[in-house]
Amino acid sequence: MDFTNGWKVKWHSAGRGMTSVFEEIREQISARQAAERYGLEIDRYGKARCAFHSPDTHPSMSFKGNFFRCWSCDAQGDAVKLVTHLFSLKPIQAARRIDADFGLGLFDNQPVKPKTNKQAHEEQFRIEADRTLVNNWQNAERAIFIRLCNISIILNKIKRICGPVDPDTEIEPLFILAIRHLDGVEHCLEILIRSTESEKISNFWDILYFVARLEVSINENFSASGVAS
Ligand SMILES: [Zn+2]
Repeated sequence: MDFTNGWKVKWHSAGRGMTSVFEEIREQISARQAAERYGLEIDRYGKARCAFHSPDTHPSMSFKGNFFRCWSCDAQGDAVKLVTHLFSLKPIQAARRIDADFGLGLFDNQPVKPKTNKQAHEEQFRIEADRTLVNNWQNAERAIFIRLCNISIILNKIKRICGPVDPDTEIEPLFILAIRHLDGVEHCLEILIRSTESEKISNFWDILYFVARLEVSINENFSASGVAS
């Protein structure tokens, strides 16, 4: 089956001509590597619970060469197909995702640089977020919703209490933080309340990252301002 829709990019090293990124990924990253990276558990027989049908109580997804196949629902394909399904992405988005997560450098034509500590830390955070999402979407969704509600309550409180009293007083950093991020918090809540399941899943990582960074900023600002949280 062709998942590429004829999408082609120019390979960055000379002499390779036009190669589909989908073919490149298929050659470089096996479905099994993608399954492991994104948190599917592979048992000692080399099988995983199928991501395409559920419940798959007895693991029926197996891996051979660079492909997967489910012996129960007959889903089959390569790493891109698997990631498309896991995160409700379009094939090209899944290809970009794999390209970024495995550092293949197929899209940006940039040589892959060694990671900084911050990037390594973010990557670890991202791997854990992916695993949570793939293995326990219901709990992950609930947890992130509660964290967003808490942030919304705190920021609204800050907005009420810490606002400038008159034009000459210096504006509290906490107040600026609240004003700057309240819209974003509401936007994320809106997505979780009103979007379809697949939209929520494809936005999950961004929301989680936004929430985690905001929690850190709030804590830092609270300690700096000496206000008890
Ligand atoms: Zn299946």
